[in-house]
Amino acid sequence: MNILVINAGSSSLKYQLFDMDNETVLAKGICERIGIDGHLSHKPANGKPNYEADIAMPTHNEAIQAVLEKLVSDEYGVVKSMSEIDAVGHRVLHGGAKFTESCIVNDEVEQAIEDCIPLGPLHNPANLMGIRACKEVMPGTPQVAVFDTSFGMTMEPKVYIYAMPYEYYEKHDIRKYGFHGTSHRFVSQRMLELLGKPDAKVIVCHLGNGSSLSASVGGKCVDTSMGLTPLAGFPMGTRSGDVDAGVLEYVMEHYGYDIHEMLTILNKKSGVLGISGVSSDFRDLDNAAAEGNERAQLALDKFAYEVKKFLGSYVAALGGVDGIAFTAGVGENSPEMRENIVKGLDYMGIEIDSEKNKVRGKETDITGTNSKVKVFIVPTNEELMIARDTKELTAK
Ligand code: ADP
Repeated sequence: MNILVINAGSSSLKYQLFDMDNETVLAKGICERIGIDGHLSHKPANGKPNYEADIAMPTHNEAIQAVLEKLVSDEYGVVKSMSEIDAVGHRVLHGGAKFTESCIVNDEVEQAIEDCIPLGPLHNPANLMGIRACKEVMPGTPQVAVFDTSFGMTMEPKVYIYAMPYEYYEKHDIRKYGFHGTSHRFVSQRMLELLGKPDAKVIVCHLGNGSSLSASVGGKCVDTSMGLTPLAGFPMGTRSGDVDAGVLEYVMEHYGYDIHEMLTILNKKSGVLGISGVSSDFRDLDNAAAEGNERAQLALDKFAYEVKKFLGSYVAALGGVDGIAFTAGVGENSPEMRENIVKGLDYMGIEIDSEKNKVRGKETDITGTNSKVKVFIVPTNEELMIARDTKELTAK
């Protein structure tokens, strides 16, 4: 069974075609500059050459069309015809409280995704464009929506409610949802296998450009660090994470910003970029800190400190923890950051082995000899998770 996974952004569209009989990637690529001019980069995994060219993409329809042409072409293709693509799985950012799990797209689901646009104003319209383009270009092929927010739907009311007037929740669905749910689900499920314990208490540290932590029991989310929007939690590449709301009033008055300008700063100019003034990229920060840049070091220290605090609070929330996983760009590739986060948690029974921790980007048990809690690096794979859900919902 072949499944095409689509992650549609407003001007880009990433794709991977999976052979789900053995969970291998047949081809992947990205369409960029959709609506501007259009560029396709296509990489087949069967030894055929890569394809890279400007192709006119006034809308997502032309982008999908171009992808399908390449997937079936003699020169760059990996399947003989479109009929060999059995289903399409779409990443959808926000499913509100309506979607507790992935589902097959029908008119009602499409409408519900549209209804969630106020909650995901940047991503949901683009995700919908991807779904609609596929429907048009591949009529009859089942489409599945996989929501970033559905993992968080098992949180209890006391976890997801904001301590604000209750009518905001009742009338406008304002609550904590959480994001990176597909990654947290993939990694926490893998942790249950690695721990050999189906009801294990697991904390997943998804540390990338955007970062979040999740606490789960038996793969069901108990708490997660992001909120109504992906701005919440601890500092990220460019996002502030949680800040004292009183600071906003002060900054807005002092600099004359309106709320939109303020939010742009919190989303795009804050986090480790804001503190360091150097970069949002952790490799740049590592290099700058190594050369003696104190603000780069401060940004790295702040990041490790805040992640450590979330980690500790999740051990408390879960009443103990069986396993901790590090994933995403920083979590998988930065031994220094993992070490700094875990340092000092030995009294909680959490220790890592500094030799084993030298690994980058590979599933590895990095648990320290005296650690009571298992610690792993688990590379995330959101696309495979989407493909698995799509297979489960569409396989006859
Ligand atoms: P996104 O949220 O965009 O998916 P990723 O999960 O790809 O982000 O993570 C990107 C981050 O991972 C970047 O800040 C990058 O610097 C960091 N990263 C990648 N490799 C390393 C490394 N070897 N050491 C430290 N940080 C790394």
